[in-house]
Amino acid sequence: MGPSFRIGFGYDVHQLAEGIPFALGGIVVPYEKGPVAHSDGDVLIHAICDALLGAAGMGDIGLHFPDTDPRYKGIDSKQLLKHVVRLILDKKGYNVVNMDATVSLERPKLRAHIEQMQQALAHCMGVDPECINIKATTTEKLGFVGREEGVAAQAVVLLQR
Ligand code: MG
Repeated sequence: MGPSFRIGFGYDVHQLAEGIPFALGGIVVPYEKGPVAHSDGDVLIHAICDALLGAAGMGDIGLHFPDTDPRYKGIDSKQLLKHVVRLILDKKGYNVVNMDATVSLERPKLRAHIEQMQQALAHCMGVDPECINIKATTTEKLGFVGREEGVAAQAVVLLQR
């Protein structure tokens, strides 16, 4: 039997392009650009999935959902998140304690959408919305985020057995 608490970290980036729905944090954020991706490109969910898998010692999202697999084309990332949460419980007996994340994005402002994301993610992860924290930052116009070419997300989770 391993330790009863485990921490994990996840990071993801997607390019942004015109005319694609902006899936982020389990919702669609109104904006003229969206993520270029094999799935719906939800960077926040992908970072959370990697944090969960990392904490459980079960690899990463690319291992479980290869982007060459046609089954995952255009998939709603909420389905991936639900699957990962179920997997770490079934295989390793871990439950989610809390999740904290930062989304790096120049535009649009996310404040008005964060509560809805919290609700959506909490639902997928089977936890209270109070256990889900989402922060947003710009990168002060620096780098690919600052040039509005992409969006990045970082997440940490704590699991308990
Ligand atoms: Mg991704």
